[in-house]
Amino acid sequence: CGIIGYIGGKPSERILLEGLKKLEYRGYDSAGIAVCSDQGLKVVKAKGRIAELENKLRSQDMPSATIGIGHTRWATHGKPSDLNSHPHTDTHMKISVVHNGIIENYMELRDELAAQGARFVSETDTEVVSHLIASLYEGDIVQAVQRATKRMRGAYALAVLSELEPDKLIAVRLHSPLIIGIGEGEHFIGSDIPAILEHTRDVYILDDGEMAVLTREEATLMTIEGNLITKQLFRVNWDL
Ligand code: GLU
Repeated sequence: CGIIGYIGGKPSERILLEGLKKLEYRGYDSAGIAVCSDQGLKVVKAKGRIAELENKLRSQDMPSATIGIGHTRWATHGKPSDLNSHPHTDTHMKISVVHNGIIENYMELRDELAAQGARFVSETDTEVVSHLIASLYEGDIVQAVQRATKRMRGAYALAVLSELEPDKLIAVRLHSPLIIGIGEGEHFIGSDIPAILEHTRDVYILDDGEMAVLTREEATLMTIEGNLITKQLFRVNWDL
């Protein structure tokens, strides 16, 4: 339902939670975040209000991190539950994914990945995405995501964070909105402008079939086939 992503120099947890709160108006049944620090990927998610997620975060020993992704879920496949909440990861917890939309061929992909040894823990369509990216990873996370999109049918806005390449966020859009926010030494992903408006007014609005690779310094825009593109920066001139 709602997506937020951050890479920069500030503590990511607070930025993700504030972003998720801005997305609450869309409606949701659960929420979660993944952050990456020198201790690797850490995923915390909970059914219910964002307050439930915040409670859970308080009870955990959270690492200080400056990169992360977050999600508010509106369940389409699998009931609202802690396990079905996003982010989803691969079997080895190296790659985390948040997703808006529906992966139509998830059953077929799930069978195939499970046969290869992937251990599924949720009932969602989304979980195939993290396992699929992991199965296609050969040392380059951007390429793995691109290969995965070739296998996925349906509608998706995705944000991907992997501890294998911990200084990079990837955003992909097909039939589900996604924007990129440009800051100074920091970048944002949002499923809509309100999620990031507090931080920047300079955004790229991704079109279908486009993706962005974000580092702290750079936002590289390309098609999901990997062809670099240039886009007009959009300046948001309204307030919440
Ligand atoms: N289809 C996914 C799920 O049920 C994503 C739903 C959403 O857009 O929030 O988990």
